[in-house]
Amino acid sequence: KRDALIDTTEHDSLQTADAKHLLHPWADLSTLGDENALMIQHAKGVHVYDSKGKQYLDAIGGMWCVTLGYGHEELIEAMASQARKMAYYTPFGDVSSAPSAQLAEMLAVLTPGDLNRAHFTTCGSTAIDSAVRIAHYYYAAQGRDSKRHVLSRRNAYHGSTYLAASLSGKAADRTLFQYESEFVHHLSSPQYDPDIAKESAASRLQTLLDEMEAEIARLGADNIACFVAEPILASGGVLVPPQGYQAATREICRKHDILYISDEVVTGFGRLGHFFASEAHFDIVPDMIISAKGITSGYQPLGVVMISDRICDAISAGAPEEKPVFSNGYTYSGHPIVCATAIKNIEIMKRDGICQHVREVGPYFIEQLRTLIDSDIVYTVRGDHLMACVECWTGDEVGPTAKNMALAQRVDQYCEQDGLLVRPYENLCIMSPPLIVERSDIDRIIATLGSALTRAQNDLRAGLLH
Ligand code: PLP
Repeated sequence: KRDALIDTTEHDSLQTADAKHLLHPWADLSTLGDENALMIQHAKGVHVYDSKGKQYLDAIGGMWCVTLGYGHEELIEAMASQARKMAYYTPFGDVSSAPSAQLAEMLAVLTPGDLNRAHFTTCGSTAIDSAVRIAHYYYAAQGRDSKRHVLSRRNAYHGSTYLAASLSGKAADRTLFQYESEFVHHLSSPQYDPDIAKESAASRLQTLLDEMEAEIARLGADNIACFVAEPILASGGVLVPPQGYQAATREICRKHDILYISDEVVTGFGRLGHFFASEAHFDIVPDMIISAKGITSGYQPLGVVMISDRICDAISAGAPEEKPVFSNGYTYSGHPIVCATAIKNIEIMKRDGICQHVREVGPYFIEQLRTLIDSDIVYTVRGDHLMACVECWTGDEVGPTAKNMALAQRVDQYCEQDGLLVRPYENLCIMSPPLIVERSDIDRIIATLGSALTRAQNDLRAGLLH
């Protein structure tokens, strides 16, 4: 392992380069320029290693995306072999490549209903943007271009382009940037947590549906193009809606001729035990499904919009004769190396029964995490299969207060000290481990997190938290 370490001088100069020249996504601007980046240097299986050789169990799966684990030789070989054959050629117009055509066909089989056409993008955000543009085009092609408003939810996260950021509804992410507000509308966050709820799931569901109907009536269904929804809100804090919410909102959309766009960037590719959760887990067939992240196990950047035949047919039938061009797409749409990686990822997932594995270890993960509820500083534990979250509190006020956030940060620090990476967000510790986690890894996550909670609680009692 020593060979793999960067020497101290190199480590220090890398930290300096990072501090001076990198602007990270979601950088803490109050510490911009500080030389404190955790330099992750190499990774294998469910573990990552920093430049001093310290091992961490990666309970975040990179960023919800590293599903088959790190250093997977077959994925590496798939990338290398496609790079040798042909790294890139334009995907525009009627030029294609074997990996993109083959992947599109595989995805058409994996997605539910008549979602048989793939439009490749570069990441989740660009796939969200593209899906909304497709919804706009779809209605315009029928001469109904008043249908342009978009419904989203508070606490949703859909990405970081101008439109995806505008659709996102997390208050904490709204900063000094500009956001589209004229045609984007946010419904309530649909979270329902039976452990802490003061009302029944049925009554919460009814309230959410009434609100959606009221918003549609206010805007007019003739003015609304689509509803964009994560089946479980991931970055918002693993927020699980009440039972039946997805199917009922799908039905409302159908009734009002509003397209239903399911954002499966996190819930897709095995995290809930299926390639796509929409139908298998939530009993809905959306009009479009967005995928990214786990589609390549995080080895290459890829996003895709899976589109129903019904929409595609209407788009091509209604395209203007003088300009029948679908003017959306990217230089790297359907990139051969990226698509070859995704194909291999799907082949491995099928061969190794990864979804089945998640269906076995997922409930164990949630069950074990729920034992932590006994801690005085855990307000609630929630999740589904391999996406979960522990919400911390000091015992008085609930939510992302300064005290609760400091407490969760302390938990996160102790986890990191003990070789476990969880994702700190506000007063939450969010987890989405690689799908290959074994029960023994889960036991280690729970033991380390449990000890970190105890130590943070002791600090709280001793007045050592500010
Ligand atoms: N949608 C969801 C549900 C996400 O969690 C994310 C990223 O975390 C995105 C979209 C945006 O994806 P990307 O960061 O690849 O643009």
